[in-house]
Amino acid sequence: MSKRLLFVIIVIGALAGLGYYLYRSFRPSIGRTSNLMEWIRYPSTHPEWAVWAGTRCGANAPFVMPTDGFIGYLWDDSFKIGHRHQGIDIFGGTDVGLTPVVAAYPGYLTRLPDWKSSVIVRVPNDPLQPGRQIWLYYTHMADLAGNSFISPDFPTGTYEKYVEAGRRLGYQGDYSGDPNNPVGVHLHFSIVLDDGQGNFRNELEIRNTLDPSLYLGLPLNAKSSVGKVIVCGK
Ligand SMILES: [Zn+2]
Repeated sequence: MSKRLLFVIIVIGALAGLGYYLYRSFRPSIGRTSNLMEWIRYPSTHPEWAVWAGTRCGANAPFVMPTDGFIGYLWDDSFKIGHRHQGIDIFGGTDVGLTPVVAAYPGYLTRLPDWKSSVIVRVPNDPLQPGRQIWLYYTHMADLAGNSFISPDFPTGTYEKYVEAGRRLGYQGDYSGDPNNPVGVHLHFSIVLDDGQGNFRNELEIRNTLDPSLYLGLPLNAKSSVGKVIVCGK
């Protein structure tokens, strides 16, 4: 075989590999994006696509749903090369400040002094792995300009305030930290690991988060739920 032919074969192989990688990475979220666009434009045409705050999906799920709406993006979805989504995004289909967000599980709520749109709840005993501490992170509860929709019960600087499951935490918003980057009205919810010293790990890294599927009783892993609308009890 000539060197030139070998080179061509290697290049074709590399391109095929890259193509397969991109296909694997983006196919799930592309399918979900088209459903999401339809939901955001015409939420009333697909009431059966919604999940509801406070609902438990499956008898063994320790968490209740943290808000109302369409589950638009899943854990491990990819929005750009190398990105892996660390939580789930639930889109209320309403304007900002209207769709309630509730605690999925009891714990101790903290809102750091500079958090406009986020709270985090410490769960001392992971219900699926007793003895381990985990954290539940809720964000996007502010408008584009950073006006907060978090309940006045939890002002900035709140530290370790006990909340029951179902307690109103605030309302969905579209704050992203960048007024030029609208993200749609939704809640981002994730389960964050503890660093072993009693602090939550960096939520932006998927390796610091847990697949929420078993906690919420729904198939919320992007790689295993291609093309499905995810609803309670189906
Ligand atoms: Zn998200």
